[in-house]
Amino acid sequence: MDQFTARLIEKREVAKNRMAFLFVIKNSAYKYQAGQYAHFTIPFPVEDDKKGNTRPMSIANAPSANGSIMIVARIGESAFSQNLMALKVDEEILVSEPKGELKLPGDKNIPVVLIAGGTGITPVRGFVEEEISGNSGRKMLVIYGNRNLEEAAFAEEFLQWEKMNSNLKFVPVFENTANAEGNYEAGLITNEILKKHILNLDEHFYFIIGPTGMVETVSAILTSSGVKEENILVERFS
Ligand SMILES: Cc1cc2nc3c(=O)[nH]c(=O)nc-3n(C[C@H](O)[C@H](O)[C@H](O)COP(=O)(O)OP(=O)(O)OC[C@H]3O[C@@H](n4cnc5c(N)ncnc54)[C@H](O)[C@@H]3O)c2cc1C
Repeated sequence: MDQFTARLIEKREVAKNRMAFLFVIKNSAYKYQAGQYAHFTIPFPVEDDKKGNTRPMSIANAPSANGSIMIVARIGESAFSQNLMALKVDEEILVSEPKGELKLPGDKNIPVVLIAGGTGITPVRGFVEEEISGNSGRKMLVIYGNRNLEEAAFAEEFLQWEKMNSNLKFVPVFENTANAEGNYEAGLITNEILKKHILNLDEHFYFIIGPTGMVETVSAILTSSGVKEENILVERFS
């Protein structure tokens, strides 16, 4: 597996317990497509545990963005998480070549529904940024399930993008609605919510990304509503 060296250039909290890291890859040949992920390794860990120091992480920005790659990690208790959070600007880590099969349909006339749970929003952000910056004209519906507004990384950015792009619709779904503002759905992502926001379920292409339980539940809802399995791509984060 090819490894590339990446230098941290910025680190910022994008939601409660969600940290974004921006890296520059020290090899201009590094090319990825929106929606891909890579394995990130911290070569000189401060903390250590048996789970090791490498994790797959989705790339959260579009390839066209600005020559850097962004990841967003949930702050956890593992040694990997502690080591990632302890990284300082200018420190270097290792990144694998880009991987993953999440790819938008070539035909821009096919509307897509991107359903994310928690940090599953990261590849979705990459897709949407790429389509918006390229003025693709593709119709996109983003359904973003989260515990609450505080933990919903990029919710504000999606709302701004939605205001500026008539092709993008953004539907946050909060389990706990305290402090939630504007238009949102309450609870978990259900059959009713999907049917309310998607008129002809079988005319769309779907992405479902996030924790396994959420991915399985939403896939089952879609297939039992007549969506063909070949029109659904999934990525499980846990
Ligand atoms: C293709 C792919 C892309 C991924 N992209 C991202 C990403 O962009 N951002 C990100 O934070 N994680 C992502 N993950 C998950 C990531 O690889 C780690 O598993 C996760 O960050 C937990 O690592 P940890 O060291 O904090 O906890 P660990 O000690 O390794 O795991 C603790 C447990 O917490 C749960 N968990 C913790 N974080 C998450 C999460 N984000 N999603 C679902 N379950 C979680 C899991 O059940 C896990 O078993 C991705 C996983 C895959 C397979």
